[in-house]
Amino acid sequence: MADTYDVVIAGAGHNALIVGCYLAKAGVRTLIVERSDRAGGSVATRELTGPGFKQDVCSVSHSLIMGNPLIRNDELQLLGKYGLTYNHPERISALLFDDGTVLEFWSDLDRTAASIAKISPIDADNYRRFVETVDRTLDMLVMGMFSVPPDPGAQAMMMNASPEGQELMRLQAISAWDLICEWIEHPKVRIALARYASETMMDPFDNGTGFGFYLILPYMYKFGLGIAVGGSGALADALVRCFEDHGGTIRLNAQVERILLEDQTARGLVLEGGEVIRAEKAVVAGLHVAQVFPHMVEGAELPPGFLHRIDVLKYAALQPMTVHLALKEPARFTVGQGIDDFYWVETGHADVDAFAQGFQELKRGIPRDDFAIYVQQFRADPTRVPEGMAQLHIYAFVPLDLKEGGREKWDQIGEEWANRFIENLRKIAPNVTEENILGKHFMTPLDITRYNTSLVNGDIQHLGFYSWQLGGNRPVPGWGQYRMPIDRLYLTAGSTHPGGGVTGGPGRNAAQVIFEDLGLDFDAVTS
Ligand SMILES: Cc1cc2nc3c(=O)[nH]c(=O)nc-3n(C[C@H](O)[C@H](O)[C@H](O)COP(=O)(O)OP(=O)(O)OC[C@H]3O[C@@H](n4cnc5c(N)ncnc54)[C@H](O)[C@@H]3O)c2cc1C
Repeated sequence: MADTYDVVIAGAGHNALIVGCYLAKAGVRTLIVERSDRAGGSVATRELTGPGFKQDVCSVSHSLIMGNPLIRNDELQLLGKYGLTYNHPERISALLFDDGTVLEFWSDLDRTAASIAKISPIDADNYRRFVETVDRTLDMLVMGMFSVPPDPGAQAMMMNASPEGQELMRLQAISAWDLICEWIEHPKVRIALARYASETMMDPFDNGTGFGFYLILPYMYKFGLGIAVGGSGALADALVRCFEDHGGTIRLNAQVERILLEDQTARGLVLEGGEVIRAEKAVVAGLHVAQVFPHMVEGAELPPGFLHRIDVLKYAALQPMTVHLALKEPARFTVGQGIDDFYWVETGHADVDAFAQGFQELKRGIPRDDFAIYVQQFRADPTRVPEGMAQLHIYAFVPLDLKEGGREKWDQIGEEWANRFIENLRKIAPNVTEENILGKHFMTPLDITRYNTSLVNGDIQHLGFYSWQLGGNRPVPGWGQYRMPIDRLYLTAGSTHPGGGVTGGPGRNAAQVIFEDLGLDFDAVTS
């Protein structure tokens, strides 16, 4: 390990790794410091349920990073040289309603529309028109995701200059549910789409969630679901290979305690135990914004109101609980027809009031066992399991902060709830018996925040995906372009544009800003 570095980066989530890769490729001496024993953060795969079964600890689908020039143009040769491969399943999801009907989503718009037509022929056309309408502006929106966001005032003026821009501003303000209702008539089709809108743990009935939904399905039709062969962690592994190949250094099991400040300038990192690592040119935090401010920068002179804005950040309405199963044989669903092969299967209410009531209770800290998705990664990537065997990953929507007992209560009730989710699964897939289950592992939302301490308040995207926390306003107005109000300190990761999720956007965008400030040519490392 070298004694001095040009740039030191706190945290080794996929965004921090991306920043590190571009810098190392440009010959910048870069060190990444990570508190856990593996790089990747929420992009991780482990044998949680026993040897041979590769389970995604957190993220599953990498659809969002598929539109990033990093992957589209293979700028870092992650695909060409460092062993990353993606599969894109055709059968995406099957939603089983409690009245016995099924709605299927395919990677193919026609097949999805055909499934919708069985419930509502008119909505099959409406849905197609919706996707085609979004598609007309999709390239521009994707370009915006993977660019440094403009100043929000300038952006608003730009958008206000055209009817399309004005419409985008309007739908940023409304709820996903309102947007869905503008296009779709049948309650069950509305609910199915709102389930997609809630996948990021957002309440689709909340104002400011419209834009998140607007993009998600048309984006998937264009770029695919993006399932990394070998597991979500294969992306992190490829980034580590790339980073080290270009001379970068990663230090694991090292907790960053604070940013080294001298004359109001970031000069390095101070680790737990007091060790100091100096950076000659820049310090990058690949952490949650509220981990850094104020805790890691005590004594810094910050702009008036800055810390208040961090205090009032709004987090996603819900949090995840996961249960991983290693199975002797695949789940056989007895409800619905021919849905065994779908990448994920979920159950849902056919009644809008019951559906909306669920979100209300979850937001008030009342756990429910009827909001869960059953993901079958091995259907898109057979390398995840020993030959002939199977796996299943339950992704459940729960509150971290329980109305009765607070978040600590999860340590007492976690196993009981894991078993409830498995019991519910058995109602639609009775062959998931105790004999079929070879290994079981669960993580409560509290366990998930312990696994990755950057998931402040259990928010899988670091901050809620609300309109006022997007673009140049993320993390807070005035500081949405990766430079923080301390000289030489930069922020990347989910607290910055284009937000959480496996987008790689915060990483690539922050790298561009750092390159500019260091007088480096970003184009030279992307060609
Ligand atoms: C259960 C779950 C399911 C998800 N599913 C999906 C999905 O299917 N698709 C999708 O697109 N997104 C999904 N997400 C969201 C997505 O995984 C994250 O938003 C994304 O990976 C965040 O990456 P990041 O690089 O911004 O930060 P993080 O992955 O949060 O990385 C932060 C890193 O910093 C480290 N760290 C924290 N504190 C310190 C410290 N003091 N010192 C040193 N290191 C520190 C952490 O250990 C971590 O490695 C999911 C998230 C969860 C939790």
